[in-house]
Amino acid sequence: MTPGYRSEHDLHCHSTRSDGMLAPREVVARAAGRGVSVLALTDHDELTGLPEARVSAEAAGIRLIDAVEVSVTWYQHTLHVVGLHVDPANEALVRGLERTRSGRSARAERIAARLAAIGIESALDGARAYVTNPDLVSRTHFARFLVESGHASSTQAVFDRYLGDGKPGYVAHQWAALGEALRWICEAGGIPVLAHPGRYKLDDSARARLLAEFRDLGGRAIEVVTGSHTPDEYGYWARRAREFGLLASMGSDFHGPRESYRDLGDLPPLPSGCVPVWTQF
Ligand code: AMP
Ligand code: MN
Ligand code: MN
Ligand code: MN
Repeated sequence: MTPGYRSEHDLHCHSTRSDGMLAPREVVARAAGRGVSVLALTDHDELTGLPEARVSAEAAGIRLIDAVEVSVTWYQHTLHVVGLHVDPANEALVRGLERTRSGRSARAERIAARLAAIGIESALDGARAYVTNPDLVSRTHFARFLVESGHASSTQAVFDRYLGDGKPGYVAHQWAALGEALRWICEAGGIPVLAHPGRYKLDDSARARLLAEFRDLGGRAIEVVTGSHTPDEYGYWARRAREFGLLASMGSDFHGPRESYRDLGDLPPLPSGCVPVWTQF
């Protein structure tokens, strides 16, 4: 299904500096061509795509928000926290992300070993063929290999069968602590946004605990409209944002043409009553 909406704001997407399929300049050009005028590039644990994106944004006449999506472990859950409008030269942020990325290669070896144990050989070499930033081997790269080699029909199916939490290729990993990630983003002058909150396996009371803790540690916004939420969830998360005094963000989480459910800017407006996060920058 192609949603019929176009938004001027898209505050979540990826490039080849993490697990996206387009170079930063291509992401920006595609966004501009689709009517996006305020774009945040949010590569996983990585800021190095931003200079190239900025050059393209200036050429295309759109506004680029320097940003990042930080991998976090909160209790046993992996969460993602987007930092919007950060200073990409900030020492605390740069060092923190460096540390967050540093465990990825050893983790990738463990993922490959687990896949080998169920008869899928050479998955690390297979994944590496898709890796575009050697510092950033992600499950998405394994997923692309597993689809291409016929082990599953889509990336979604790969996560359901092999790479999702509790599946045979899953390796538990310790990412940044929530408080650390929020501190790095805040020290870099950024606005911390809890990414796709509907994607975490939490019941209503755990969601409330997360939102309270996130806010108390300096969190400012949550993604309400995202490629990971259904339209029913837009309303739910809009209410929760209001309840916890949090701003609302929106972003496609675009990774590449055909691979992503939402293309850049394919986003309906925020539900009424939301205070948009972009009022802050
Ligand atoms: P990693 O940071 O290596 O754990 O990889 C996480 C990435 O995998 C996410 O940013 C998504 O791009 C992708 N991903 C996670 N879950 C799914 C899913 N169920 N379907 C498709 N892609 C997913
Ligand atoms: Mn991703
Ligand atoms: Mn994410
Ligand atoms: Mn993302």
